[in-house]
Amino acid sequence: MIVDMPTPGEFHTAGVNQLYLAWKITIGAQQALTRMGAAADDQEAASDYWQSVQPELANAYSLIQQAMELALKGRIAAVSPFLLLGNPADWPGRGATEPLSFGELPTLDASKLVKVHNLLIDPPLDAAFATLWETVRRDRNRIMHSTSRTTFTAAAVVLAILRAAKTLFADMPWGDRLLAQEAGQKYAIFGMDDHVYSEVVGEIGCAIALLTPADALELLGFDRRRHAYVCPQCFANAEHDFAPSLPKLAQFPTKDASETALRCIFCEAVSTVDRHDCEYPDCPGNVISQNLCLTCLREQDEQFSLTPAFLIRAPDDLHDYEFVVGRESGGRRDEYRSHRERAADDEDAIAYGRRMLDAAHLRVWQTVSIFQRERCSVPLEPQTCRPIGHWAREDRGLLWHPGVLAYNYAAHGPV
Ligand SMILES: [Zn+2]
Ligand SMILES: [Zn+2]
Repeated sequence: MIVDMPTPGEFHTAGVNQLYLAWKITIGAQQALTRMGAAADDQEAASDYWQSVQPELANAYSLIQQAMELALKGRIAAVSPFLLLGNPADWPGRGATEPLSFGELPTLDASKLVKVHNLLIDPPLDAAFATLWETVRRDRNRIMHSTSRTTFTAAAVVLAILRAAKTLFADMPWGDRLLAQEAGQKYAIFGMDDHVYSEVVGEIGCAIALLTPADALELLGFDRRRHAYVCPQCFANAEHDFAPSLPKLAQFPTKDASETALRCIFCEAVSTVDRHDCEYPDCPGNVISQNLCLTCLREQDEQFSLTPAFLIRAPDDLHDYEFVVGRESGGRRDEYRSHRERAADDEDAIAYGRRMLDAAHLRVWQTVSIFQRERCSVPLEPQTCRPIGHWAREDRGLLWHPGVLAYNYAAHGPV
């Protein structure tokens, strides 16, 4: 009796694991080169680098091929796992008298899998799959046996992985698959998985950069001819420290400048955004989600540099002013931010402070305390500053409180 029959699910899971490993190897090789930064501009060094990682890429190719074989075997096993065992005449006879493990029996040669699959399963795999299957086998053999300087790059391997995923493991989008795989990996097991979400989004961004525009569109739904923005949902999902490094993977469905439905190709969320210019003059962005510019990722209510023409740029420190804005922070400690500007005199500084609280994008701030810095030190300490007073947003409008500050270094700490 044949025992230990594998299930279609087991073949599928084993295939996913192989494909995932191929992905980690390949994206890892590309990201290592990117991390080396300036050195990568050196064409000769880059070529040497790709030469040095050929064994890893060969390994990745083998894994893709194994993953594809396992997926095909899983599909055939769903009809009957015995179909994988080839000719029964070749089976050993001892199975008739004692248990014989499935794993001890010879299975179909890989070269027969596509033919058997297509005889049993509707719809059959198409010509595009046959090309992919052959390409992976051929490239893997070339890379294994090549002694020439012909090198494979991560781009070719990533393309094969994504095509294999789309054809044989399409039950889940690739991004979700990566997250699911990461959830079972070592970092998650030890609870050190804060970086996982941003890492996976980063890997998809890396893959998009490797693909041709046509492949990026077909395989990941990313249109390289269009502007892209950071997805607000992914930004919220990523751990705070890692969020600023997220690649821009959200795009509008049309080029209409009033379009507000931003769709992320990674999490597939559609976010409604505001279309107006970013408050930072050096940013060309005009896609804002709540307070965040999805182009430069800066908080809009922290852009404190107002119209420069308003101020006289005095060259000496005597005219350095510090503006500390404050707001209540939902029951928690009050929040303060400081901003330095140069003004001709106290009167101009006071007018600047008022203008800050008047600015539409700074409406969330309730007070601005103004100091003149007498010595240039980095922390805002009382002994280095002369207090001027503060503006407060009150029921009657903005009120000036001369000589009194809303921000207190001793109570509120450094800003
Ligand atoms: Zn997203
Ligand atoms: Zn911006």
